Amino acid sequence: MELLGICSSCGAAGKLFTCQLCGGLVCARCLDPGSGVCRQCAGGRRAGDLLGGQD
Ligand SMILES: [Zn+2]
Ligand SMILES: [Zn+2]
Repeated sequence: MELLGICSSCGAAGKLFTCQLCGGLVCARCLDPGSGVCRQCAGGRRAGDLLGGQD
């Protein structure tokens, strides 16, 4: 089951994965394989704000 579309992070077209944190669709390059979250979540997460994620 593959999901194809436009990466919400870098804008590249291809196979997408769902970020486990923000739910965004990102490409393989923008997804952290270890944590299953997108690059933005993996690198820009705020301390004490890992849960929720809603504005
Ligand atoms: Zn991407
Ligand atoms: Zn994310």
